[in-house]
Amino acid sequence: MSENILIPDDLARALREARSVAVLTGAGISAESGVPTFRSRQTGLWARYDPMQFVSVEGFRRNPKLVWEWHQWLRELVAAAQPNPAHLALARLERLVPACTVITQNIDDLHERAGSQNVVRLHGDLFETRCSRERRVLREAELDTSTVPPRCPCGAFARPGEVWFGEALPPEALNAAVLAMRACDFCLVVGTSAVVHPAAGLVNLVSDRATRVVVNLERTGHAVSADYLLQAAAGMALPALVNAAFGPEQPPAAP
Ligand code: NAD
Repeated sequence: MSENILIPDDLARALREARSVAVLTGAGISAESGVPTFRSRQTGLWARYDPMQFVSVEGFRRNPKLVWEWHQWLRELVAAAQPNPAHLALARLERLVPACTVITQNIDDLHERAGSQNVVRLHGDLFETRCSRERRVLREAELDTSTVPPRCPCGAFARPGEVWFGEALPPEALNAAVLAMRACDFCLVVGTSAVVHPAAGLVNLVSDRATRVVVNLERTGHAVSADYLLQAAAGMALPALVNAAFGPEQPPAAP
């Protein structure tokens, strides 16, 4: 299907000649894997809840059981999901250019499962569990599972480990993202609504000399400063872009 998207020749050339690529991804890149974005209409069990209450300290204080159970649901959904052609195209791109950093706001593990090696996780990991008081990462074996949520040995509730709204980003991840954005000569922004800060502001660090490309179904704030807007599903646009720059992926040679 990727042949339906027209990639301008000068865009393909800019990617082919890029020395350092930085990619900022958001929930939209995983939508075609069946992982809902927070801003897409929720269905089923969670339709009547505002997803923001599941990813905030206030929401956890108000109803820790609900927040824990929602994360269990999301963990199961993500574990059953598969990387889609957009994740796979970025993993391929990393093998084709001298340097490529995927900076993701996502808490799923689909970039890694697609084969991307250089992934910076700005918002942490859905599959991590922390103590809500001490903040340290907890191992499964440490948890007292007689309550929901389970408890840390210190007595406090365990909580999902990712970064919640209003919390600071992991400094190492933020530093790595800043360096990659400053250094890149080709920047791709994929499937993010550009409203969650500080991640959204990272694109302001990109040099004026770099080529900036936005891939999104809608026209977001990032599109204003982009050289190219590919207004299409990431699962179609990214394979089309990488194929236009480097040619279609060759099947492995027969032994
Ligand atoms: P968002 O939900 O605010 O926005 C999603 C964006 O993706 C929208 O602009 C939408 O137009 C676009 N989009 C949807 N489907 C697309 C597709 N197939 N191709 C291209 N674009 C598509 O997401 P956000 O900007 O990442 O911010 C929300 C926060 O929620 C982030 O911090 C993120 O950690 C978290 N989140 C993560 C996941 C995940 O890990 N998969 C899922 C939901 C939310």
